[in-house]
Amino acid sequence: MEYGNFIASEWVAAAATRPVIDPATGTVLATVAESSAADVATAIRAAREAFDAGPWRTTTAQARGRILFEMARLVREHAAVLAELETRNCGKPIVESEFDVQDAATCLEYYGGLATKIHGETFSVPDNAINLTLKEPIGVVGLIVPWNYPLLLAMWKLGPALSAGCTVVLKPAEQTPLTMLEFARLVREHLPELPPGVFNVVTGDGPVAGRALVESMEVDKIAFTGGTETGREVLHGVARSNLKKVSLELGGKSPNIFFADCDLDAATDGALFGVFINQGEVCSAGSRVLVQREIAAEFIARMQEKTARIRLGNPLDRATKMGPVVSQEHMERVLAAIARGRQEARLVAGGGRAESLPQGCFVEPTIFESDNAAWIAREEIFGPVVTVIPFGDEDDAIQIANDTPYGLAAAVWSRDIFRCLRVVKAVR
Ligand code: NDP
Repeated sequence: MEYGNFIASEWVAAAATRPVIDPATGTVLATVAESSAADVATAIRAAREAFDAGPWRTTTAQARGRILFEMARLVREHAAVLAELETRNCGKPIVESEFDVQDAATCLEYYGGLATKIHGETFSVPDNAINLTLKEPIGVVGLIVPWNYPLLLAMWKLGPALSAGCTVVLKPAEQTPLTMLEFARLVREHLPELPPGVFNVVTGDGPVAGRALVESMEVDKIAFTGGTETGREVLHGVARSNLKKVSLELGGKSPNIFFADCDLDAATDGALFGVFINQGEVCSAGSRVLVQREIAAEFIARMQEKTARIRLGNPLDRATKMGPVVSQEHMERVLAAIARGRQEARLVAGGGRAESLPQGCFVEPTIFESDNAAWIAREEIFGPVVTVIPFGDEDDAIQIANDTPYGLAAAVWSRDIFRCLRVVKAVR
């Protein structure tokens, strides 16, 4: 399969191409555009034209809503194909991809419904005047998406942008562009109501194609999800250009907190699910498991025993619980983090590449035990690696939970609902 960029509802060749690799087998799945800054500028011009001069600005909210419902219907109708493609491209188990694809459609439906519910406000002001606000689309939005939930996270951005009446240029992660390109093909074939230029997709490398979006004077907003350092780069790029609006969703090292009175069986399932779903490639993964000291030994033993039963393998096999991580490069990053962890923390399970699956980027689900000061307990690994950190009392748990530069997600497990609510409020 060969894809160009999707610009003004046409497939447009770029300056160069690049292969897209299946991380489970190392085979080439497709060839896609490797866009230069000039290729991206072509897409931005199409989006600009569609916003400034095209019919999109005067399209009613009802019509925009219907277009989003139609997009959702296309996703559901082609769910099997999209899910298989997602699994082949990013390695997640097929059962998870099927869930993601349905979730992507649900997201589009949500924003389809929201299109007609975008309200301004009125304010009482002195001197018998009326003061009111009208919500208007921002304009051309650059959507930059990571590789862990390629289709779903793209919809989290595309849905609200189109619902509000913006036009978009979307850049998928270089490793995982295929479901978005397939979605573009479906839109082109089945959704003539969508004016050309409203929805554009460009593929390519972040520091070139992503940066071209970020630094464009013609783009009015960037919606970015990705790593914290890249987020910092995006802010610098925005500062260097037109001070466009920007929203960032970045990394995490989230605490999953287990008190001694929790249901041990459910709790250990929750701890493992929280960090090993999607191979741990989840921004909100519970990658720090905080366990009250009196149950720590038993808790770790149960995690160890259950981890041994997690089935790694071909992600298209419905029995597989964990597939490969997204790429060779990422696998090497995760393995280097594990090697560093082994020097400073106690290894409880896993600890390396899955040797029985040498053809793909498979990493064993890995558990460390350490205190919260260890590097492995502080850095986001973004792979199947968890650190168990014992704690004393409630205050201790809260202190450890908050002792992180991140602050994305958290969970609390206890049979005492009052304690749960107290801790939830105290964790920042
Ligand atoms: P990156 O930050 O490397 O990439 C995210 C996106 O940004 C990709 O499309 C990438 O393109 C692009 N990009 C890279 N460099 C630049 C640049 N200089 N200017 C503009 N765009 C750029 O993250 P990953 O794709 O590796 O995703 C993993 C990270 O994302 C994790 O750290 C995780 O925490 C975070 N994440 C956060 C989520 C959240 O909701 N908070 C959800 C999912 C992930 P390219 O792929 O071509 O480099």
